Amino acid sequence: MTIPQPAADPAEHAAARRERVLREAVRHRLLDPEDALLAAFVDLDGVAASVAGLRAAFPAGPDVLHTFAAKANCLVPLLARLRELGLGCEVASPGELAQALAAGFRPDRIVLDSPAKTRRELAAALELGVAVNVDNWQELERVDALVGSGTPGSRIGVRLNPQVGGGSIGAMSTATATSKFGIGLADEGNGKRLVEAFRERPWLTWVHVHVGSQGCPLDLMAEGVARAVAFAARVNEELGRRQVVGVDLGGGLPVNFADDTTAPTFAEYAGLLRARVPELFDGGHRLATEFGRSLLAKNGFTAAYVEYTKTSGGRRIAVTHAGAQVATRTVFMPDTWPLRITAHHPSGAAKDGAPVPQDVAGPCCFAGDLVATGRPLPLLEPGDLVALLDTGAYYATTHFQYNSLPEPAVHGFTVDAAGAVRFVPLRRAQPVEELLRPV
Ligand SMILES: *Cc1c(COP(=O)(O)O)cnc(C)c1O
Repeated sequence: MTIPQPAADPAEHAAARRERVLREAVRHRLLDPEDALLAAFVDLDGVAASVAGLRAAFPAGPDVLHTFAAKANCLVPLLARLRELGLGCEVASPGELAQALAAGFRPDRIVLDSPAKTRRELAAALELGVAVNVDNWQELERVDALVGSGTPGSRIGVRLNPQVGGGSIGAMSTATATSKFGIGLADEGNGKRLVEAFRERPWLTWVHVHVGSQGCPLDLMAEGVARAVAFAARVNEELGRRQVVGVDLGGGLPVNFADDTTAPTFAEYAGLLRARVPELFDGGHRLATEFGRSLLAKNGFTAAYVEYTKTSGGRRIAVTHAGAQVATRTVFMPDTWPLRITAHHPSGAAKDGAPVPQDVAGPCCFAGDLVATGRPLPLLEPGDLVALLDTGAYYATTHFQYNSLPEPAVHGFTVDAAGAVRFVPLRRAQPVEELLRPV
């Protein structure tokens, strides 16, 4: 086999890299038409490059903590890699906190955000020294009770809802006037009440903002950050002391699912923030970020076998093993979450026949289990493979249990300069026995 050299065209390079990995995966039987019908792959070199891009875009040093939003891809070995690359971890449930700790993150490099933290969860976080962003007034009272007259070992902030409005996906927009997240900055009386809350609690030292995940324009995200930073300045001014020392900017950098270009980049977003909120970069604040999708999505793909092909009512359909169980959002909201799909021979080699419109269906027993409809692709045949691109975040690792379909294996990979692919297990395929646990 000839070794593909990085092509001048980055899209060509990305396609050749995926093809090479698929061929090797078939050769190593990580994909197998009976025993491994479906598997997900994460490009660990790509993840390292994405992390480097993030770090380069923002100031460096001990006052800047980039955390990875664990919900985007919560596998412990992957989280451990991200820790080795210098990241912290943002978690939003006891399960994610346990995964972050198992991945070796120091508690002071973990940030707990969740709108539904229980008393016990809050107590555990404060006990460990995990940073906490308080979501609402009632949670603040619970934290008061836990802190008592002492000084918490955790840094504690308040999640502000800057109420700047939504992006193109309602379900992903967290800074609308009526969002379930945070304390609405513009709601009657809240500004004053928040200032007093900070005055009474010298340990309340951070503000947190997260405008949305996917679909939010950079301007809207920057406006949300600007309002949070302006509010922090107001608190410090009214209190006459530098009480708010840190700003947690959240995540939400949108991902381009249309082709292999990474756009927008972390550098573009940081550049916009630098222009719009320069005080964020003047060294006067500690900073945290919480990116998820933008670090992982383009660094992963999901591959599945075509089991059958048929024609119904004049429509060509390929029935594959990737459906709603691994591409839940795409199946239920196909217009909002379309995915690129590539067609491959059983060897993993790309198919290059003339494109024919086909529905790409999943294995689930409901009619809407389609990952694409009328998609022009080289004609798929039984035994072929399809790859669902840009699925490194919120796909195979946010499994939807339907028809008792098991969670597929997830394999990390690296490709060395000579083109040799090395696989690293990130999650084994779920054995059927696991579905048989007695009550
Ligand atoms: C989901 C979430 C993130 C990560 O969002 P991405 O779109 O994956 O970058 C960060 N912070 C909070 C509070 C979140 O809820």
